[in-house]
Amino acid sequence: MPKSKHKPLGILALAGVSPYQEKAGEEYMEGPQLEHFKKILDAWRLQLREEVDRTVSHMQDEAANFPDPVDRAAQEEEFSLELRTRDRERKLIKKIEKTLQLIEDDDFGFCNSCGIEIGIRRLEARPTADLCIECKTLAEIKERQMAG
Ligand SMILES: [Zn+2]
Repeated sequence: MPKSKHKPLGILALAGVSPYQEKAGEEYMEGPQLEHFKKILDAWRLQLREEVDRTVSHMQDEAANFPDPVDRAAQEEEFSLELRTRDRERKLIKKIEKTLQLIEDDDFGFCNSCGIEIGIRRLEARPTADLCIECKTLAEIKERQMAG
């Protein structure tokens, strides 16, 4: 197999799956496709949980009272960075769980805003996506206008 010049697949590689190949006549988000995304989301969630656990135990190991204020400040900064990362990971885990629930409810893969198919390739790049690319772009434009 020739080596791919593309960047690593990330989440797909993590789950040990290849990009989904649709068979002729296959319905969007029927059994095998849902299984495919469930596998990806499960693997992703597991990896994030491991990261969260690692952060917690790292902080417990490192939590020491440094007499030197410079050391202490450095440690506090490191901890607050780790806490922010952990917070982000927790939020992502929640989002993954919400998405897994959509799979359970047979409601996965459709745009939350307009209802069209989000598409397999877009979901493989971003399994928690809940908007199609058009609605996502529109939402981002609106967000920028609000911010500006
Ligand atoms: Zn849409």
